[in-house]
Amino acid sequence: MNRDNTPFGPTPAPALDWKGDCEPFSTRFDDLYYSREDGMAESHHVFLAGNQLPDRWHNHRDPDFRIAETGFGTGLNFLLTWEAWRQQPEPRPRLHYVSVEKYPLDREDLVRALTPWQALSPLAQALAQAWPGRIPGQHRLSFDSGRVTLDLWWEDAATAFADLARTGPLFDAWYLDGFAPARNESMWQTGLYQSMGSLSRPNATVATFTAAGHVRRGLIAAGFEVAKVTGFGRKRESLAGRIRTPGPKLEGSGSPWDLPCAEHARPQSAIVIGAGLAGCTLARALAERDIAVQVLDRGTLAGEASGNEQGILYTRLSRKHSSLTDFALQSFSHAARLYGQYFANGILREPIDGSLCGSFHQQDNSDEMAYMHDALLGLEHLARVLDPAAAGEELGERPALGGYWYPASGWLRPPAVCRSMLQSKLIKLRENCGQLQLRREQGQWQAVDETGELIAQADVAVLCTGTGTTAFPAAADLPLQNIRGQTSYLPATDASSQLRAALCHKGYISPARDGVHCIGASFKLKDPSTELRPAEHRENLDKLAAALPQWKSELENLDTTKMTGRVGFRCASPDYLPIAGPAPKREAFLQTFAGLRKNAKLQIDSKGDYMPGLFINTAHGSRGLSSAPLCAQLLASQICNEPPPLSSELSKALSPARFLIRDLARNRV
Ligand code: SAM
Repeated sequence: MNRDNTPFGPTPAPALDWKGDCEPFSTRFDDLYYSREDGMAESHHVFLAGNQLPDRWHNHRDPDFRIAETGFGTGLNFLLTWEAWRQQPEPRPRLHYVSVEKYPLDREDLVRALTPWQALSPLAQALAQAWPGRIPGQHRLSFDSGRVTLDLWWEDAATAFADLARTGPLFDAWYLDGFAPARNESMWQTGLYQSMGSLSRPNATVATFTAAGHVRRGLIAAGFEVAKVTGFGRKRESLAGRIRTPGPKLEGSGSPWDLPCAEHARPQSAIVIGAGLAGCTLARALAERDIAVQVLDRGTLAGEASGNEQGILYTRLSRKHSSLTDFALQSFSHAARLYGQYFANGILREPIDGSLCGSFHQQDNSDEMAYMHDALLGLEHLARVLDPAAAGEELGERPALGGYWYPASGWLRPPAVCRSMLQSKLIKLRENCGQLQLRREQGQWQAVDETGELIAQADVAVLCTGTGTTAFPAAADLPLQNIRGQTSYLPATDASSQLRAALCHKGYISPARDGVHCIGASFKLKDPSTELRPAEHRENLDKLAAALPQWKSELENLDTTKMTGRVGFRCASPDYLPIAGPAPKREAFLQTFAGLRKNAKLQIDSKGDYMPGLFINTAHGSRGLSSAPLCAQLLASQICNEPPPLSSELSKALSPARFLIRDLARNRV
């Protein structure tokens, strides 16, 4: 699933024809998406009843029930499952539904295809609202306050499930959908069945609408017991089964250093050190999984890098895929969805806590924009290339250059986001703890303060401590850099009140909050000073004047000695990706993967040795608003042994151990 250096563009569209008003038909596969007789009843019969749902939810022992599907199509199976889950009384397990789709529908087609199912209409609307369209990659959607998770992988089914199979057993039920095997041969493959065998938890079941002999034999060979059962309507038979002997773990190619060699139990409690965006979003993700979280900070909530009054929900585009841009897009689209739901539910209040009013990002590379103009066709809900006049229409002020318009973006007040994330009775915040240290006692992590007093104790601990992370011995070798950034508070003027959306140039500005714009930010390496400097206010104003020349004279006349603002320190990694994952045991890594020093491509079939129950979440740079929510999901999935929200390629690109592996491969350690 490595896309590095391949051209960026939308995931291929399905080839659709419509029968009647809203019945989708695939011309690529010459088949219907669902039964014309009664699609809802067929899905119920084949997939829910075929997997003994909802009955199995009554006495399911794990905290979540996980379903994997091949072919998301119109989402009918998902909506029926979600609806059935909603009708179950508490206590019920959380629902985690992972679906792989190679040719995802555009939003308007999804809405059209789901129109016939009136009973599902509220859920269909929520799905359409959160729909990522054809943005390539993996997309995590959350519903019902995080109790329902939908992971959509826009990928070939065999490829995606082979990637997930590296992790080990993950799923309780399989919906093998797809078009009829005779018309959709690439879906019904031995490789897929083998991944299914490895990914099945004890007692996992499988159901499919087909009764094809090769499907039955393939599943049996992968360790399932399979029987023919009564089909739906005119179909005489379909297949249903159960895992008998789970398959071996499939580790794929490359050294599996990212997979922990020791298994760990799902925790009951967690310590999160650091109450910025990284810590607060993680606390939320853990609390949604019923884990009791103590958030500790040496200072106050959002007191450091996450303390600016306004920040932009930022992302970046590039002609070619890379871990950096793929993560930037996937995390941005995840974050925009999440904040959109928070605004809709009143957890965040517009315009006090922010506004998803869109943002425009100026560009000076016209070749890149010409290329991206075409690459973004079909992704207009993500971004569009605009010239300065069209950008002016969106912004209310005409910028000097063209660039990208991101309609789902906007600005947020990071401290308000942090506070909103902590609204859970399972989360306790303790501020002003001073410098904390961690120690491991009898299988638990303890946080102690400078006087040696025990502040908190829990099964797992996560360092979300930004620039302070290297003060903890377990993270002392991380290559973190601190980058000073000064923001300037600019009182709104008549002209600036015209601004309707956020603007990113060499700096940034958004519509005023409470009569003031927080504009930013300077970028100073190796400068630990916290003083506010008039010269850096001037830099911020000059960058803004270059982006909006019509404001130039007004900005030039401002007395920077009278301006206020704030200094913060971005914490960044050398590759500008966040650092999120388990904390590696350095000496063990150096020993196990020593062979990489001589041959960087050597395949070493050993897993990584990690500190039990200790995780790191830092280096979000100036993009924490975008990157923190998805990193929180990644960490929560690692902590709770759940299906990950990202491909293994991207999880590795974020792993704290990546620097050790790279340094070994370059023979630098
Ligand atoms: N489960 C869907 C629903 O509830 O609406 C219907 C699925 S439809 C019958 C089959 C789906 O499989 C199509 O959306 C098609 O694009 C997808 N598909 C076909 N080949 C695939 C492959 N190799 N990998 C992933 N998806 C594939």
